[in-house]
Amino acid sequence: MTISELVRADGAAEVSLGHLHDQAVQTDDETLPCRVNNPELWFAESPSDVEFAKALCQDCPVRALCLDGALERREPWGVWGGQLFLQGVVIPRKRPRGRPRKNEAAA
Ligand code: SF4
Repeated sequence: MTISELVRADGAAEVSLGHLHDQAVQTDDETLPCRVNNPELWFAESPSDVEFAKALCQDCPVRALCLDGALERREPWGVWGGQLFLQGVVIPRKRPRGRPRKNEAAA
């Protein structure tokens, strides 16, 4: 996905690169959920903490820009733009630690 393909939250129109850039420059850091909450939530091991970070991102004024940047950088892990990344791609949710692999032979 590129910035030119993003659609506003209300679905009314595409968001241009210039608009997103202006939005980011004019945004006070204090309005960014990852700046005013514990930043470790965005890289948490706990699936519930990860889901909480994703929920906090939903109100972020630069969410679309953040997500687009993370996609282009192929972020190795963490929550960016309200999505969980692992090895450069968005995954639906984090699995808890210690879960056995599906193809692991039964003992
Ligand atoms: S969308 Fe990006 S900048 Fe906004 S809170 Fe989430 S991680 Fe932070």
